[in-house]
Amino acid sequence: MGDSRMKCRKCGRPAAINMRRHKLALCEACYPAWFRGQVERTIRQFRMLSPDDRALVAVSGGKDSLTVWDVLLHLGYHAEGLYIDLGIPDGGYSTESEMRALRFAESRSATCHVVSIRDRYGLSVPELAAQHRRMEKACSLCGLVKRHVMNGFAWERGFSVLVTGHNLDDEAAVLMQNTLTWQPGYLARQFPVLPADAEGLVRKVKPLCLMYEREVAAYALVSGIDYIQDECPHAVGARTLFYKEILNRLEQRSPGAKAYFFTQFLRAKQGGHIRFAEDREVALHACSRCGQPTTAPGLCAFCRLWASDVQTSAGDEEEA
Ligand code: AMP
Ligand code: ZN
Repeated sequence: MGDSRMKCRKCGRPAAINMRRHKLALCEACYPAWFRGQVERTIRQFRMLSPDDRALVAVSGGKDSLTVWDVLLHLGYHAEGLYIDLGIPDGGYSTESEMRALRFAESRSATCHVVSIRDRYGLSVPELAAQHRRMEKACSLCGLVKRHVMNGFAWERGFSVLVTGHNLDDEAAVLMQNTLTWQPGYLARQFPVLPADAEGLVRKVKPLCLMYEREVAAYALVSGIDYIQDECPHAVGARTLFYKEILNRLEQRSPGAKAYFFTQFLRAKQGGHIRFAEDREVALHACSRCGQPTTAPGLCAFCRLWASDVQTSAGDEEEA
C-alpha cells in the first residue's frame, strides 16, 4: 500500500503507508504510535473515556474491533472484550471469528467474554430470522440483537462504557444513507459518544470514528493482529457497501473529502448549527421482561422477537 520511493516523514526509512489526506507517509515502525496518538486525540476530543472507566469492547474478530481493543490496551485503559456468537454457519464464519477474538485476548493477557445467542435464548440469529420470515432483513435483526446483548451484558456486569470498532468509512456511509433519505431520528443520534441517558443504558463510544478503514487495516497488519477478513455472508450487497464505494471515489478525486463530509457534520451539530428532532421524544421505560429501557409500552423490540406470536419490526441498520 506504500509507494516504495516514499520515505517515512519521521525517520526517513521507506514508507509503508501514504495518507494523502494528511500529506503524511510513515514506515512500519513509526505508524502504530502515530495511529494510537490519533485515536487518543479522538478519545479526548469527545471525552469518550477516562482512566477509571471499565470499558467493554464489542469484538467481532474483524480488524476494526480488534484494533480498537489493541489501542485501548496500549493506551492503558481497562478494556475487556465481548464476543457475541450469533450462530451464523456459512463457511464457519462464526467459529473462525470467535477463535480470532479469543486468540487475540490470550496474546494480550486480556479477558474476552462470549455470549452465544443460541445458548442463552434458544435460537441462533439465522433461525430467528427464518422463524420471522425475515431472511432478507437478517442484517437489521442481527443489529438489533447485537445492540441489545452488548448493552445488557455491559450493564449487568457493571461496565461503565461500551466500545465498538466503527471507523470513519462506516460512519460516513451511514451518514450518507441517512441524509439521502433525510432521517431526522437517526441523524439526531449519530455521534461518536452516546450518553447513558436512561437507567439500564451504558454509554457508547466509537474511538476509531475518525480513522479511515485503510488506516485501520494498515494498523492491524503492522501490529500483527490476526483478524477475520470476510464480511459476514449476509452483509454481501448491503447498501452501506455501495455508499462506501461512492465515498471512496470522492476521496480519490479529492483526498480528505470523506473525512470532511463526516467531521463537518459533527462540527455543525456540536456548534448548534444543525439540529434534528429526536424521534423518541416519548419517555423511555423498563421492558417488562428484560428491564432494558424502551419506548414501547410493554416488551422491548428484542423481547418481542422471542414472543413468537407477535409480529416484530426490528431496528433499522442505519443506527450503527
Ligand atoms: P458491524 O455491525 O458488523 O458493522 O460491526 C460494528 C461493530 O459492532 C464492530 O466494530 C464491533 O465492535 C461490533 N460487533 C460486530 N459483530 C460483533 C459480534 N459478533 N460480537 C461482538 N461485537 C460485534
Ligand atoms: Zn426486553
